[in-house]
Amino acid sequence: MGRVYNFSAGPAVLPESVLREAAEEMLDYRGCGMSVMEMSHRSSAFKAIIEEAEADLRDLMGIPDNYEVLFLQGGGSTQFAMVPLNLMRGGFAEYVVSGSWSKKAYQEAKRFGDARILGDSSDGNFSYVPNVAELRVNPNADYVYICENETIYGTKYHALPETGDVPLVSDVSSCFLSEPIDVAKYGLIYGGAQKNVGPAGVTIAIVRDDLIPTDDLHSVPTMLQYKTHVDGGSMYNTPPCYAIYVCGKVFKWIKAQGGLEGMRDINVAKAQLLYNALDESNVFHGTARKEDRSLMNVPFVTGNAELDAKFIAEADAAGLKNVKGHRSVGGMRASIYNAMPIEGVQALVDFMRDFELRNPA
Ligand code: PLP
Repeated sequence: MGRVYNFSAGPAVLPESVLREAAEEMLDYRGCGMSVMEMSHRSSAFKAIIEEAEADLRDLMGIPDNYEVLFLQGGGSTQFAMVPLNLMRGGFAEYVVSGSWSKKAYQEAKRFGDARILGDSSDGNFSYVPNVAELRVNPNADYVYICENETIYGTKYHALPETGDVPLVSDVSSCFLSEPIDVAKYGLIYGGAQKNVGPAGVTIAIVRDDLIPTDDLHSVPTMLQYKTHVDGGSMYNTPPCYAIYVCGKVFKWIKAQGGLEGMRDINVAKAQLLYNALDESNVFHGTARKEDRSLMNVPFVTGNAELDAKFIAEADAAGLKNVKGHRSVGGMRASIYNAMPIEGVQALVDFMRDFELRNPA
């Protein structure tokens, strides 16, 4: 079988050129005679890889000098704990619960301190993002937490909450590097790489210096303190070397797409293609509120579970893989991350139109 169009929510499609380049270097990385997978993280070759990856990421996102870039492990789920363990300093934090991932983060934070709900869209089955203008941030909060793109429900914040001096913490796992952002508006940004950035195994955190506790937090495991990873240059212990190496290649690929502006334009074109098809269809319906639609994850249904299953099976047979919705919500979901070519979205749209002709409403 040749390459398929893979609409998985993560781990997800990576740019073909990146995979080919990594394959070419697999046995002998630039004359080292070994794979990056086999290389000491203390070697000069790997040091150059991680330094270049960080420099390219800083360049792409315009990360100010007073922010640390950390390559961590444990996925987004570990950040659900690390954020409160490091940033909730005996006070309280405010969470906007706009889907499963922010709910999980909120529940985890409650294990460690006073996590409060600032906004909640569970009343609409998380089909929308709470109105940021209506969020009344308590100026004494240690931080405000959002999940900027809810992978399962396909919603995205198109404006950030105004948090004043209260640091904004954002989980960008499923929209990382999909469009330009102003890093200075955040206290902490993090995302697992396995959607838009690289293979599973590395989680990138971008943290404003002054939020990182300078003392050793005795009750917090060493590995869960941001300071440990700042002091160790993301190499306190063995980092996920190969994943970081592939991320570095993806950063260069994004630069070649015109940076984050170029990436956004491509992503907007792809998302419009799919949303237009949904809006014109009599069979398929998007489930997220229009104003809050994600550029990355597009959930949709027919309203008939049997027809959904038929569509998913036929799409799969046609090489359109992983369009099944998350197990908690059902229906379909097409994740159209950075590396999904517009041809893949066009193929899906063509298939949907054909399916509709064969199965009219
Ligand atoms: N946050 C978001 C928005 C996600 O989509 C996911 C996983 O899909 C997570 C967090 C959890 O990430 P991980 O599986 O890396 O722990």
